Amino acid sequence: MKFLYEGKAKKVYELDERTCVIYFKDTATAFDATKRAEVEGKGIINNAISSLLFALLEERGIRTHFIKKLSDREMLVWKAKRLDIEVVVRNITAGSLCKRLGLKEGERLKKPLVELFYKKDELHDPLICAEHILMMGLTDAKSLRAIRRTALKVNSILKNFFREHGLLLVDFKLEFGFLPDGTLAVIDEISPDTCRLWDAKTGEKLDKDRFRFDLGDLLEGYKKVLERLQGG
Ligand code: UDP
Repeated sequence: MKFLYEGKAKKVYELDERTCVIYFKDTATAFDATKRAEVEGKGIINNAISSLLFALLEERGIRTHFIKKLSDREMLVWKAKRLDIEVVVRNITAGSLCKRLGLKEGERLKKPLVELFYKKDELHDPLICAEHILMMGLTDAKSLRAIRRTALKVNSILKNFFREHGLLLVDFKLEFGFLPDGTLAVIDEISPDTCRLWDAKTGEKLDKDRFRFDLGDLLEGYKKVLERLQGG
């Protein structure tokens, strides 16, 4: 396989003209990768959770890059032309929303909030609005409408699924790209690295905030999420 690139938590290899293999690493990073650690086994759990959630979305009619889970740490995906946009959907106040607007954490939003960020490390992924996206030509108006619609649909599917397993989906980040056949699809990963998940009964944080704020063993939280989703 041809090595394509290495991100903070994953490596990507090209298998052929149309497919790639994503390898999930154990590296955990936060605060622009200024905080970093190796958490043995994290890649295995994130691949398992991501594969399960992508399969669920596909089953519910959402196009994703997911083809299948190949091994403990590897996922087979369609090669995608990635958009430099990060889409965050929020159901409960937390993280940068609270910091930016001076809000209290844990307030339920009346309706889901969609936020757009420019995926650009040097600029620290700034919050942007639709007009910026169109001005910079990151995508066109029609695709942007489809992205918002899809992000809200994904939120509704995931929120209900997590709730059925005793978890609150506080917020999460999605990335989008175009598949070889030209369709818009959800790409990257969906895991406790990219979602905030709280225990619905106790409020315990089971996601990367454990690492960000030293709230407890990271892997223990991620394992609890996987066990819940697998019906354990
Ligand atoms: N998120 C992510 N990657 C990023 C930024 C955010 O996966 O580069 C996720 C994050 O884990 C959370 C949601 O998107 O579930 C909202 O993150 P927020 O804007 O609150 O930023 P944070 O304070 O988490 O950096």
